[in-house]
Amino acid sequence: MENTIKNLELRQQQITEDFNPPKFILKYYYDELMEKIGMDIPEIDISYSQYIFEYVSAGGHSSQRTIIDFNGETVEVTAAYIAEKIKYNKSAKRQRSLMTNKLRMFIKERDAYTCQMCSASTDDHPLILLEIDHIIPISKGGLSEKENLQTLCWKCNRKKADKIL
Ligand SMILES: [Zn+2]
Repeated sequence: MENTIKNLELRQQQITEDFNPPKFILKYYYDELMEKIGMDIPEIDISYSQYIFEYVSAGGHSSQRTIIDFNGETVEVTAAYIAEKIKYNKSAKRQRSLMTNKLRMFIKERDAYTCQMCSASTDDHPLILLEIDHIIPISKGGLSEKENLQTLCWKCNRKKADKIL
């Protein structure tokens, strides 16, 4: 809306500049001409949502109030904030922090304590070391989600390393 109004004003300004009627018309019929052309842009009301944040202390003695217009500027700041959050959520640091013990246990249980590459399991090899692998590695944008996690024995995991198979 803000841009549209700005564009309209710009066009109005351009038209006014380009407009060059014969001198005698300007001299004798100026008011009539302007009235006929009727080139005024009407007042366009952009009604923004307003967010009011209010705090009143328990005793009611002090209060704070902030009013925020959800206008073009606020929308841009909010969009930038959300974009930053999304970037963090997909960041390697965030993805590593999501790898909790609980999630590791869940994946091992789901995969029946069996390496998904060589099928070695703790049933056959009680001392086998099982690890949780990101099928698409974090370094390549993989997320710590169940669909992207699998159980591998440490040997297969070293072989796979940072590859997508
Ligand atoms: Zn294996």
